[in-house]
Amino acid sequence: MNNKVFLRNKISDRVLKGHPWIYNNEIASVAKGTPDGATVDVINAQGNFIGRGYYNSLSQIQVRLLTRDLNEEINPTFFYNKIAECWAYRQRLGYVENCRLVFGEADGLPSLIIDKFNDYFVIQTMSLGMDLWKDAIVDALNQLFQPKGIYERNDVPVRELEGLEQKKGFLSPEFNTEIVINENGLKFIVDIVNGQKTGYFLDQQDNRREVNHIVKGADVLEAFCYTGTFGIHAAHYGAKSVLGLDISEFAVNTAKRNAELNGLSDKCDFQAVNAFDALKEWSKEGKQFDVVMLDPPAFTKSRSTIDKAVSGYKEINLRAMKLVRKGGFLVTASCTNLVPPDLFLDIIKMAAKDAKRPLRQVCFRAQAADHPIVYNIDNTNYLKYLIVEVG
Ligand code: SAH
Repeated sequence: MNNKVFLRNKISDRVLKGHPWIYNNEIASVAKGTPDGATVDVINAQGNFIGRGYYNSLSQIQVRLLTRDLNEEINPTFFYNKIAECWAYRQRLGYVENCRLVFGEADGLPSLIIDKFNDYFVIQTMSLGMDLWKDAIVDALNQLFQPKGIYERNDVPVRELEGLEQKKGFLSPEFNTEIVINENGLKFIVDIVNGQKTGYFLDQQDNRREVNHIVKGADVLEAFCYTGTFGIHAAHYGAKSVLGLDISEFAVNTAKRNAELNGLSDKCDFQAVNAFDALKEWSKEGKQFDVVMLDPPAFTKSRSTIDKAVSGYKEINLRAMKLVRKGGFLVTASCTNLVPPDLFLDIIKMAAKDAKRPLRQVCFRAQAADHPIVYNIDNTNYLKYLIVEVG
């Protein structure tokens, strides 16, 4: 029998609509002696079962639900079945080689991320309750895939809110952690130990193809290029030249190696510089490109700094527009769920107004479908990706 968590009188609309988080201020009482990380049954004020999840008294989010089915037990089989379902869904959508196999809340597995890079897997367990199931998760991966390697990238600060330490390391026998993946017919190095996040941004994998038609014969600037993936796609699709900028030396070196790996070094140049400074200086100098791409890091992680983020996005997009030759294109993205799609478009329109440049939309997209957007779970809709013609 699981311990019980009793909710206050009014259960939040968010939970009723399918969101799995229960905050401490929504809880009336918790059975005495319930250990942190334990599976608990959540009961509403009327005494009815709402769902089953894991508990952590240290976290603001005291319960994250794993099931709303009274008859579903939380055990290793549960994790095996859930991960098998995630894999079946990705395969149906055509993601077979590289994909985000598990996207946390969006897959009913709160705080769990698993990225699949061909035969290698990178996992993050970002809450105590999920961390305690790590062995079951690794067993499930071993049974489902016979992986060549599994690695944990739990070097994420959010774990500290759960009383967990940050760490990274092998969850399988050691292996060469510099992997090469195929994407859209190109090859990219993924360093799963030293790369950002899990090593690679799979969420943009479909968006990278979207530049195909707009880059033919173009001089392309890719700001915040990380390992150069968009720029290298552009070069492959027929750009005349590509200049990529990133503050990280490691990223720029990997970008150079990626260009080489694809036989595109002669067209590609990557520089380790501060892209904010470069955009500012070059827009003042009147430098011009046919296509400018922006994929900056999230400007905010908290609601209290949204205003600052909005002005940050506006400023770099304004500068980028000025760098685009008349009739060229701006490719621009934002990866924080705190700036919803409508607001992002408003920011771009404000920037266009100030830049006195008319825009025509080519496409407006979100992340790849292996990072599912679940309606009523707001934070699953996080990536905005826009291409506009700049008149
Ligand atoms: N487009 C990339 C992901 C970019 S992530 C892809 O699809 O793989 C954002 C990048 O911005 C990171 O690589 C980070 O190193 C870089 N970055 C952060 N601050 C920066 C700055 N001030 N100037 C240049 N790059 C910066």
